[in-house]
Amino acid sequence: MSQSPLAPGSIIGILGGGQLGRMLAVAGAELGFDVHIYDPEPDCPASRVAARSWTAPWTDAGAVQGFADRCDAITFEFENVPVETVAIASRVSELRPGARSLELTQDRIVEKNFINEAGVQTVPYAAVESLADLTDAIAQTGLPAVLKTRRFGYDGKGQAWIRTAADAEQAWTAIGEQSAILEGAAAFKRELSIVAARGLDGVIKAYPLVENVHGDGILKLTRAPATGINDAMRKRAGEIAQVLGDGLDHVGVFAVELFELADGELLVNEIAPRVHNTGHWTMDACACGQFEQHMRAVAGWPLGDPAPHSTGLMSNLIGHDVDDWQALAADPRARLHLYGKRSVRDGRKMGHVTRLG
Ligand code: AMP
Repeated sequence: MSQSPLAPGSIIGILGGGQLGRMLAVAGAELGFDVHIYDPEPDCPASRVAARSWTAPWTDAGAVQGFADRCDAITFEFENVPVETVAIASRVSELRPGARSLELTQDRIVEKNFINEAGVQTVPYAAVESLADLTDAIAQTGLPAVLKTRRFGYDGKGQAWIRTAADAEQAWTAIGEQSAILEGAAAFKRELSIVAARGLDGVIKAYPLVENVHGDGILKLTRAPATGINDAMRKRAGEIAQVLGDGLDHVGVFAVELFELADGELLVNEIAPRVHNTGHWTMDACACGQFEQHMRAVAGWPLGDPAPHSTGLMSNLIGHDVDDWQALAADPRARLHLYGKRSVRDGRKMGHVTRLG
């Protein structure tokens, strides 16, 4: 892998053109790069801020190859890019982060095995391939437990809770009778996350731990930094980010979602090998926000300073929350970010607002 930094004017490609791709493209442009977006969807949010957009299916090998040929480095905005697409991209261009980060996080069982082998704790879990397996799995995890598809889950989709053994069959049907993981319920006090970046040189810089509030499996609020964090927790979160970032040999931003237990112990829920919704506050409240930080890492530049200059309270604008845009635009303490999505749907992330100080 070439370690020399990409000069301004280089082309950085992004696989995926949703809101994360859009904010990455803006940050890339600010550093002087030309950002190309590849997405199957014409008129996707990132396409309208990028230097160039490529619209083709993920499975169009010729289109992926043509895109990769033009790019000096390629990154992605979501972890469910098909492995074949990633394989082509990485043969032709510099893929940052690399395929390992995707392979170890696309499948929930592979991911949890990796986390535990790295010496970091998760909830108890078991693989489920059939309704019969589910009974054995319940014996391993105890109840309540949550059944999740192994792949392609996001924002609480592809998940069903099992509270008593009688719920098992319904849960198996609800997730579409496919390869799954059963996870024991974490008796968490709070949900936290740590967003960090790992440079091409292996240096890791982390943002402070934040506290997250979810509703219906979707992130609603992030409070940054999290309150009531003692030195031991802060140190442990830093160690977790270090060991997982190094274990993935990651390049770029990644997020670790954590459950805080009553005794302050931290369990890892999942790793996102990309910029993350719980890091959106950093673009307004830190010297170098997560989107710039990611583009710096992808370009092989030194990482920026993640230190906050303000506290931040980030609220997602979900579905018709965005109808309040005029009031939000009039609030001097609110930093408003809208994603340019053409239509409002329930549960769709339309934008976010960060209140500083
Ligand atoms: P996920 O898509 O795995 O991040 O899950 C979405 C949300 O569901 C999490 O942020 C938690 O609020 C909840 N959740 C997921 N897994 C568990 C678990 N094993 N125990 C308790 N709550 C969970």
